[in-house]
Amino acid sequence: MIEVSHCNLAYVQGASQVKVYDDFSLKIEPGESLVLIGPSGCGKSTLLYLLAGLLHPTGGEIKIWEEQVMGPRQKTAFILQEYGLFPWLNVERNVSLGLRVRHVSKRIYQRTVEEMIRKMGLWEVKHHFPSQLSGGQRQRVALARALTLQPDLLLMDEPLSALDALTRERLQKLLLEIWQEQKLTTVLVTHSIEEAVFLGSRILVLADGRPTHVMGEILNPLIGQSGYRQSSEFFRKTSYVRSLLEGRKAE
Ligand code: ADP
Ligand code: MG
Repeated sequence: MIEVSHCNLAYVQGASQVKVYDDFSLKIEPGESLVLIGPSGCGKSTLLYLLAGLLHPTGGEIKIWEEQVMGPRQKTAFILQEYGLFPWLNVERNVSLGLRVRHVSKRIYQRTVEEMIRKMGLWEVKHHFPSQLSGGQRQRVALARALTLQPDLLLMDEPLSALDALTRERLQKLLLEIWQEQKLTTVLVTHSIEEAVFLGSRILVLADGRPTHVMGEILNPLIGQSGYRQSSEFFRKTSYVRSLLEGRKAE
């Protein structure tokens, strides 16, 4: 579905250039849940911006469904860490924002918004404003808003990192359910090794260094199986990812 071919990207910092990607290639199949993990500053967010069409490679190309990405596409949803909610709109209006902008019929609009608000467990707070919500609720509003537009690609940049441990686990389960139900192609950036192994059908470990490269690629076909988080395979996979990130030889 996604083909990143021989991409270059550099930022100008003062008088010098920082190469983040140099001849970088990556393929993503439809329905994959790809997780990117790597040290701070290695280029994870940059890759999401490239996929979202918000940044352009200086060399090489990025294609989605065979079509070159020239700018933001309607079917790509992008969720940032800071949720991107409008403080002056209540939950219902934040969720429905994208639909209102797209002028869908009132009947479809009401049904879609209502379904999504229920699904995300926001029914009781649908008239609240973002400032009245917990971090977990805000993140669910952001997710609801993205999903009402029925994207075929969901990009998320450390979406759960500001949340407390329990809320985070609950939202990880919710993300997993959504992915399983819809087989939505997903690219998620995280700092958490456990989150990577819980949510990634494939995990790419990116290296520190300018430019970065893929240090390890882990296939993780057991995600979504009940009890996976407590299994020895889960433990083995997290240990492996940790050893790559710490630069040790895996045992
Ligand atoms: P990550 O998300 O993995 O922490 P980023 O993709 O945000 O990393 O950044 C990769 C590198 O590019 C970092 O070294 C960062 O300093 C640099 N960088 C990111 N954005 C800019 C920018 N707008 N201008 C200059 N340098 C940038
Ligand atoms: Mg980042």
